[in-house]
Amino acid sequence: QSFGTTDLNEVVTRTMRLIQNDVPSNLHLAVELDLMLPRVDGDAEQLKQVLINLVQNAVQALETREGRISVRTEKPERFGELRSAGAEFVEVRVSDNGPGIPSDQHPHIFVPFYTTKQKGTGLGLAICQRIVKNHGGSISVQSKMGEGTTFVIRLPALPTEQ
Ligand code: ADP
Ligand code: MG
Repeated sequence: QSFGTTDLNEVVTRTMRLIQNDVPSNLHLAVELDLMLPRVDGDAEQLKQVLINLVQNAVQALETREGRISVRTEKPERFGELRSAGAEFVEVRVSDNGPGIPSDQHPHIFVPFYTTKQKGTGLGLAICQRIVKNHGGSISVQSKMGEGTTFVIRLPALPTEQ
């Protein structure tokens, strides 16, 4: 699959600019970019949709509390097996300090139409997962009740020009 060379930092920057006015003023939105981030083979529009869905969920999870949302790009340092196999990944992490997701719900949240919201569609994360998988990547969740939630998107990195 080839979508074209895409700079995820640029996608994050553009997406955050687009949605910042929709983020309630009681919430603090932080963006941290890894300036050494390798590019990915990706569709910027689809990846933008992934970020929008994740930030929207974070906003909804935080409701009226004083909340923090952060979006971070990162190329994790890898050792051993993955590195010797030549597998390189980049990550985008979307975190919030909301109520968290009970661990017994983790297996369900990516399933289409699964929602715990009064007026939810349950499609946001299913769409995120489909897009990320189409890009050869993965999406996972880390969450601790009362502390918050982080969604980690991992995409294969393109080789960096030396
Ligand atoms: P929807 O937002 O329409 O409910 P999603 O697929 O986007 O559908 O999310 C599915 C469910 O996952 C949500 O209903 C909610 O229970 C849970 N969820 C997703 N993101 C978060 C988050 N950041 N904090 C807490 N719960 C979340
Ligand atoms: Mg949603």
